[in-house]
Amino acid sequence: MDNCIFCKLASGEIPTTKVYEDELCIASLDINPAAPGHTLIIPKAHHQDLTDNMDETLLGHLFSVAAIIGRRGKERLNADGFNVIQNNGTAAGQSVMHFHVHVIPRYENDGIFEFWKPTSPDAKELAVVAEKLS
Ligand code: 5GP
Ligand code: ZN
Repeated sequence: MDNCIFCKLASGEIPTTKVYEDELCIASLDINPAAPGHTLIIPKAHHQDLTDNMDETLLGHLFSVAAIIGRRGKERLNADGFNVIQNNGTAAGQSVMHFHVHVIPRYENDGIFEFWKPTSPDAKELAVVAEKLS
């Protein structure tokens, strides 16, 4: 993809703060991190999002790399935990249209963000949605 910033980062055409690289992906620090060590796992092949023909081997690999980076955050940045976040579509917060996985080191009570406000649907409402998704 000619005009894709993450294709350029992954191929080395544009420099980035790389913390990991192998034949399938790079991991780079996010330029606007939610927390120190916020890392993006970026496949070298262009896929727009999770629904764009990503094979199981690549997906499994990217999440294995997310685990490596998450573990490094705990061992080397003293994080207490980490989030693995992957946005699909602008409605879901995706701003760069090249699949990527965020790994964000977390600390007890860091308060950096809250994902959702839990709701309380009744069994009937759950059943209606379940039927559509099944
Ligand atoms: P999204 O919102 O698509 O899930 O996440 C895109 C992320 O990419 C954002 O957190 C943003 O800060 C980061 N980002 C955008 N452009 C660049 C860039 O040129 N280099 C790096 N390292 N990160 C970028
Ligand atoms: Zn791309």
